[in-house]
Amino acid sequence: MAHAHRTTAAISHVFRGTFIHSTQKTAVQILEDALLGVNAEGKIAFIGTGVDLHKLAQAFGFSPSEVTQLTQHEFFMPGMVDTHIHASQYSYAGTALDLPLLQWLNTYTFPVESRFKDLDFANRVYTRVVKRTLRNGTTTACYFATIHSDASLLLGQIANDFGQRALVGKVCMDRNEGVKHYKETIQESQEETSRFIAELLNKKYPLVKPIVTPRFALSCTGALLGQLGAIAKNNNLHIQSHISENVEEVNLVKELFPESESYTDVYHRHNLLTDKTVMAHGCYLSDKELDLFRETGASVSHCPNSNIALCSGLLDVRNVLNHKVKLGLGTDVAGGYSASMLDAVRRTLDTSKVLTIQDPEYNTLTFEEVFRLATLGGSQALSLDDQTGNFEVGKDFDALRVNVAAPGAPIDLIQCEEPKILLEKFLNLGDDRNIVEVFVAGRMVVPFTEPVDSCTAESKSLRSLHLSTQHPT
Ligand SMILES: [Zn+2]
Repeated sequence: MAHAHRTTAAISHVFRGTFIHSTQKTAVQILEDALLGVNAEGKIAFIGTGVDLHKLAQAFGFSPSEVTQLTQHEFFMPGMVDTHIHASQYSYAGTALDLPLLQWLNTYTFPVESRFKDLDFANRVYTRVVKRTLRNGTTTACYFATIHSDASLLLGQIANDFGQRALVGKVCMDRNEGVKHYKETIQESQEETSRFIAELLNKKYPLVKPIVTPRFALSCTGALLGQLGAIAKNNNLHIQSHISENVEEVNLVKELFPESESYTDVYHRHNLLTDKTVMAHGCYLSDKELDLFRETGASVSHCPNSNIALCSGLLDVRNVLNHKVKLGLGTDVAGGYSASMLDAVRRTLDTSKVLTIQDPEYNTLTFEEVFRLATLGGSQALSLDDQTGNFEVGKDFDALRVNVAAPGAPIDLIQCEEPKILLEKFLNLGDDRNIVEVFVAGRMVVPFTEPVDSCTAESKSLRSLHLSTQHPT
């Protein structure tokens, strides 16, 4: 029997073939010879089986001849959710991985981020990171930008133009001893955050929203943290930051906030831990701190590439999940060197196996569980699971059409394989060449429909930003 969502919106696409997704109960659910209908609002209108084609066609008013049939080596999976990525740091991704966190920030990150005052530079980097992540299957991204409101608004515009679902954060920081010119006064930070939020909301982008973004406790005074907590509460907004990433940082937070019981308590007492909060890393959170995450509904973004590349630590994901804390995966570009969520999947499995080497009794994560973390888990971590994360009827159709045998792609199929093996091969061996189409809210966003000449698209984005700056609404 088909699951269906009665709505007035007409059916715009119907696909037939293998669908693989996660549910709360099942890490990998495989639907073979399934029929999935997407309506004109981009939502999943029904999921049924191929044998019910004619019944469904009659019920939903589409013609069986318009159904798109997947091939034998293809499947649909939900789009992946990157719960933590610094769009501004994409300019130096793949380099500068030779220092620990705090020295890395001062030497590489802050000097680069300060360049985003220049909108042409911002436009070049942001266009590329949005395109690169979309092509690699990131249908939802939770972005850190920089302290610059106009460049952060431009990132929102570019994500909207290319059709990516995104939370965009203008970074807030009123403390920076290392690179003194890259910070704000508390008043600037508060006023610019309010302006950024108002202007981004005013654009009414359907899939792009602001997120309140204190960089991390070491970059913010308690007064600023308190103001940001109030701004998030008054506007019912998402919140993101970093927590317990490296040992030196954890010790400094203790010194700077002696009145707080723990790092988690620093955020909690400034109203920054809510069920719309996502905190990156969390390598050194105590069980008591994880309990506070669960009580408040805050989530952890696991960024294994960055945790290893900057020698920060190894997050025990199993322990976080055992505490019933929501958890998604993040690339953490550019502390993490890869912008691809497939890399985050692989590094998550590697980290879990390193923990198993250290303790043979450890309950290693399975690839099925990690697939769920990259999709449904990420949507839950961002409290967007009412809209995306799996193929539940009524959610938006955010999906990757994967062809495991795509010409030129890095997978050789020696024999005919069952769908679960195809999924495992794709997660471990595949890349963007296997992701033949990407859909966000029912719209095909990859292959790109924008002009092939990226300079044209970039200058178009920049022109319209200048225009909107000249004529504020
Ligand atoms: Zn980060």
